[in-house]
Amino acid sequence: MNKKQQTQLITQLKANHQPARRPPMLLTVSKLESVGNSLMRVYLSGDPLLGFPIDSHAYHIKVFLPLPHQTQPDLPYLEKGKVMWPSKQNKPITRTYTVKKFDPTTLTLQVEFALHDHPGPACDWVKQCQIGDKLGVAGPGGPYPILAPADWHILAGDITAIPAIIALIENMPPNQHADVFLEVKHKQDIQKLNVSECINVTWLVKKNNQPSLLIEQTINAIKPEFAESVSAFIGGEHSQVVAIRDTLKQKYNLNKSLLYAVPYWANGQNEEQYHQARHVVMDEEY
Ligand SMILES: Cc1cc2nc3c(=O)[nH]c(=O)nc-3n(C[C@H](O)[C@H](O)[C@H](O)COP(=O)(O)OP(=O)(O)OC[C@H]3O[C@@H](n4cnc5c(N)ncnc54)[C@H](O)[C@@H]3O)c2cc1C
Repeated sequence: MNKKQQTQLITQLKANHQPARRPPMLLTVSKLESVGNSLMRVYLSGDPLLGFPIDSHAYHIKVFLPLPHQTQPDLPYLEKGKVMWPSKQNKPITRTYTVKKFDPTTLTLQVEFALHDHPGPACDWVKQCQIGDKLGVAGPGGPYPILAPADWHILAGDITAIPAIIALIENMPPNQHADVFLEVKHKQDIQKLNVSECINVTWLVKKNNQPSLLIEQTINAIKPEFAESVSAFIGGEHSQVVAIRDTLKQKYNLNKSLLYAVPYWANGQNEEQYHQARHVVMDEEY
């Protein structure tokens, strides 16, 4: 597929995509599963998931966490298409996560939370989470298509983007070519994946005192000779995402619809502090 065909296909896909705005849902934790040392897979179930989009893997959701005085969060609701929030003292803490998988037969969403070392409401919630706990969820959302069609894809990220990247590559048609770079802190975090042989996955285990190889490896991935078109998906810590994005967009002449580059978190800042700066990165035109 050359660049012109790629652009036409993306325009067609966008035109056929009409997402409906769904009200926030109160879901129940139905199962918990450790994935290596650094992720907790949370199964969230409930009737409000009826009609949730089947192909929503890798798209993001907002989670609404209960406050310390609550056992379940007070949810915002939609009124005439507008989001109405509970009063200030009951406004839930909001964080962004990813749909790893949605099973419409059991009405269950899988979401994987990174178990990081800093105090944070979402991480703290998942560390003490039990079956039966309640969580609010809104979405899914994200640019469409989240990974643009191309002859060759580059995907890279840290533990926070691993759920999205694995969801994307495990759902790729068998003839799709991709180079994938996943950075983790422990070798126990390396997962056995169900991907086609056209997808090369490199796991990078980075100990705390070692430099990261994620940027270097990703920007130096070797484009296959047959590839006329490229697309990329980059998620993770702010400085890594911005560095990889800036190089890839130059190197392969990628515009925004071909390059998903979203900083998922920023060192030393919580979500409320970082939110604005993320939008500055995401709103840049290219
Ligand atoms: C589109 C999108 C999709 C995302 N999908 C996922 C997902 O599927 N799984 C997932 O785990 N995260 C995901 N994230 C990232 C997640 O929203 C952030 O990591 C969030 O800050 C975690 O909230 P918290 O309450 O634990 O920490 P916060 O209260 O936001 O932050 C507290 C402290 O922890 C630090 N911190 C936050 N995250 C990390 C981390 N991963 N490692 C080390 N330190 C950290 C902050 O710098 C801060 O110092 C996604 C983000 C976006 C924008």
